[in-house]
Amino acid sequence: MLKTLTAQDLFRLLDRVSRDYNLLVPRNLDDGTRGLVKWDGQQLDFCGDPLQRKPTSHFFPQTDLLVQLLKDGTASVPRKTPEPLALLGLCREDLQGIAFCDRFFSVPPADDIYLDKRRGALLIGLTGQAGPEGEFLPLAGQDCDIELIAEKPTWTAVAYSEPGAHLLEEFPDADPQGFERLWERSAEITVARQEKLAQAAQLLQRELVTDDFWEEIAARCIRCGGCNFVCPTCTCFCVQDRQGSHGTERSRIWDSCQLDAFMREAGGHNPLGTALLRTRRRIHHKLVDDPQRWGEPGCVLCGRCDRACPTGIGMYSVCDAIVSRFGERL
Ligand code: SF4
Ligand code: SF4
Repeated sequence: MLKTLTAQDLFRLLDRVSRDYNLLVPRNLDDGTRGLVKWDGQQLDFCGDPLQRKPTSHFFPQTDLLVQLLKDGTASVPRKTPEPLALLGLCREDLQGIAFCDRFFSVPPADDIYLDKRRGALLIGLTGQAGPEGEFLPLAGQDCDIELIAEKPTWTAVAYSEPGAHLLEEFPDADPQGFERLWERSAEITVARQEKLAQAAQLLQRELVTDDFWEEIAARCIRCGGCNFVCPTCTCFCVQDRQGSHGTERSRIWDSCQLDAFMREAGGHNPLGTALLRTRRRIHHKLVDDPQRWGEPGCVLCGRCDRACPTGIGMYSVCDAIVSRFGERL
């Protein structure tokens, strides 16, 4: 289903969405960052920087209560929020990150804590002239209920699910040829970053990257965990118990494979006992293990870890260094 929307139609659509969902929309915030905030019926900023908060955190938050063990011996399991979320403003890479987590958490035994939050949520992609200063963002083409493609002053809206089609049915049809032109424009956007990632993945898969390289990269890691905590495809967590006046709360909290305790065993043995091993694993897992397991890399090239890492060893920077140093071995 392909529709065309004026700015007025768009606000009608959002009002309609907000009747059934807790709708979050993009806003350029006072601190200079861009985030998703509750729709107030008036203000939203369609163009701007990428969202730094990872979109998967709405379904897999930093701290997630699993169970409360009360002093009277009963247990209570939190239920999902009554009003489902609708997230507007997700770019192609954000949507790919959510799709990655959906698949990961759905593999048996399925993760009900994640899926309870995710089920019934509405994802609205935002592409086209929606980047900083109206820069053209590549089209998503999937992984969402509705994709809004900014064309200024109008919008092309595409439905990829039944709820999405239902919400768009009242709006006029769009010209399919115009949609094809948008795809042509999207295809022109440089794929150099993806090619670099693919080359680095090949070098790793063929074991052409030496330990001294990892030693140099690992020496720059200050173990802040930022790269993992901002990554939409990182799914590792540990479990924490907290005692309160009415009992014990067991929560899961995000973990980071860059931290020394990540795999340390109770007996003291640590299979990832050095910074070299941990740093190599962070990259290797996404570019070698994930393609083997899922048929595609575990990195969607969202750029968050490169923006977050204080010492410049996020995914793309490391891939760039791998290709510069070892590329001729391919
Ligand atoms: S660019 Fe970094 S943060 Fe984004 S998906 Fe890849 S590894 Fe994760
Ligand atoms: S963000 Fe950079 S410095 Fe921090 S843990 Fe990750 S790689 Fe190390």
